[in-house]
Amino acid sequence: MTQASPALHLTGVTLPDGVTRDLWVSAGRISVDPVPDARPLPGGWLVPGLVDAHCHIGIDPTGPVPVAEAARQAEIERDAGVLLVRDCGVPVDTRPLQARDDLPRIIRSGRHLARRRRYLRDLGLELDDPAELPAAVAAQAAEGDGWVKLVGDWIDREAGDLAPLWPDDVLAEAVAVAHRAGARVNAHVFGEDALPGLLAAGVDCIEHGTGLTDDTIDQMARQGTALVPTLINTAEFLTIADSAGRFPRYAAHMRALHARRLSTVAAAAEAGVPVFAGTDAGSSAGEGIGHGRIADEVIALAEAGLPREQALGAASWAARDWLGFPGLVDGASADLVVYDEDPRTDLAVLRSPRDIVLRGVVHPGGGRFKTSTRRPSRD
Ligand SMILES: [Zn+2]
Repeated sequence: MTQASPALHLTGVTLPDGVTRDLWVSAGRISVDPVPDARPLPGGWLVPGLVDAHCHIGIDPTGPVPVAEAARQAEIERDAGVLLVRDCGVPVDTRPLQARDDLPRIIRSGRHLARRRRYLRDLGLELDDPAELPAAVAAQAAEGDGWVKLVGDWIDREAGDLAPLWPDDVLAEAVAVAHRAGARVNAHVFGEDALPGLLAAGVDCIEHGTGLTDDTIDQMARQGTALVPTLINTAEFLTIADSAGRFPRYAAHMRALHARRLSTVAAAAEAGVPVFAGTDAGSSAGEGIGHGRIADEVIALAEAGLPREQALGAASWAARDWLGFPGLVDGASADLVVYDEDPRTDLAVLRSPRDIVLRGVVHPGGGRFKTSTRRPSRD
């Protein structure tokens, strides 16, 4: 249901190859062959539509939001240049947003799968018995868009520290169920102890991953498991620790994970683990993570040590390829962002998209996106 829109003619430096070329857009699709009567769109740097690979459209730091508010969140992402979102778990049915041509594409993971009192209230499906996990995974795989979200670890209040939610044999069966259904599995993990069981089970992506060690990084690299480190979320670990005074071991653990979070991401990237950009927008971490902050995450990845071009690819062409979406090739949906300057030279350029083309329709850039888009926390 592509809207009728005028044909476009763009000339610019296309990424990732950096070649200056002409592209045309007709009926919502990219053409490398000239299209008559195309409206020229001023050139610049043409970047395949940005990707937020860990985003929650449908929640804010206070919890679930109505669909109209979820649509507003999606508009904020679009105006920041994010045209493809991997939702990492919401309790809201966002399928109505997928029917709107003016909103980013959303790959839904369905509901977080957790255990009773072992995740944020009101967000996950809380299972009473861990043995229920494989059946719950099957149900979410049938509802979602090819991804299922597990909570891999969370504070165990009796132990006073992070602890895994699931026995290893249950995880192995649950991941096998997802894979047989054609779905991939992503898992929230902060600490060290849940990682061996999740990786042995064959999960496809680790979210946050602050507890990775040399051994688990090696295993991810061997298996091709992706990492979405959500650095603007893990920056809030000190705030989380400060508010966890009743659990001193947990607080100390979160501080230790925070202290090594950048070097952990650098080590994973260096070892060849595929690293992608995800903001965790919608999360209540710290003061809450607002939508529209993909530029901050890309800059944080570069600060952790990824080369600038790799950090940009982690939020564009590389992430699109991982999720099964093409870049700026003939016949692809015209989903791209135009910048006046080269974002490979200065990633802060990502804060000022000039034009955003989604399904062939031009949306003006949303102006400058700064780090001040935080929302109030739930308490
Ligand atoms: Zn999240």
